[in-house]
Amino acid sequence: MAGGPNAAIIPCRHCAGPARRTHDGLETDWYECACGWKMGIDWEHGGPPKRPLWPITDRQRRAIEAIALMTDRDRRSIADLSDAERTELRGLYRIADGSEDEERAS
Ligand SMILES: [Zn+2]
Repeated sequence: MAGGPNAAIIPCRHCAGPARRTHDGLETDWYECACGWKMGIDWEHGGPPKRPLWPITDRQRRAIEAIALMTDRDRRSIADLSDAERTELRGLYRIADGSEDEERAS
């Protein structure tokens, strides 16, 4: 079990809805959302999440939707973003994955 029980459901990076684990791998778990989004996540590097990844807060949902807009727009790669957009994106990712809240709590 790669991501463990806290990673059974993760927020979909496309629509911010719940994406359910469809395959439990040794290193990588696979997820599928009702919107059709599928993704494999390698939990080996950061280790399994310490708290449940679902449900997400309204703030996290808005951040994920903003990330999807920025990264889907014109199908640009991250490398094509301006410095200001990249800074904004970094901030959004920190909100989306909850790391900003963890810092505030500690
Ligand atoms: Zn989705």
